[in-house]
Amino acid sequence: MAEETIFSKIIRREIPSDIVYQDELVTAFRDIAPRTPTHVLIVPNVLIPNVNDVLPEHEQALGRLFTVASKIAHDEGIDEDGYRLIVNCNRHGGQEVYHIHMHLLGGRPLGPLLS
Ligand code: C5P
Repeated sequence: MAEETIFSKIIRREIPSDIVYQDELVTAFRDIAPRTPTHVLIVPNVLIPNVNDVLPEHEQALGRLFTVASKIAHDEGIDEDGYRLIVNCNRHGGQEVYHIHMHLLGGRPLGPLLS
């Protein structure tokens, strides 16, 4: 059984967070240290530590991450100019919080991914 992270507390609204969307499968909230004008984290409500732990039974929740990313990008007015979605995995991926999450980054040009 994977250990809970602070994201589980955010999902259960046990600690304050700027939640912009929540349903029965996913929760989206503003990153506490935003790197771009829009920086939202979209997470499944169920604890999946990272991509290495993804199972077929998670497909519905993980598919919802994209549906919600698209909706939030539209709500934030960044869909036309574009944005970036990132999922980090383990040390080389730069993962800090072991509850799988999608970063939605936008609101300014981001440049090439790797430089
Ligand atoms: O992908 P990675 O694990 O590196 O990203 C974790 C993200 O979670 C960071 O961008 C960090 O600012 C954010 N975070 C947050 N609220 C917390 C703890 C971390 O938004 N309480």
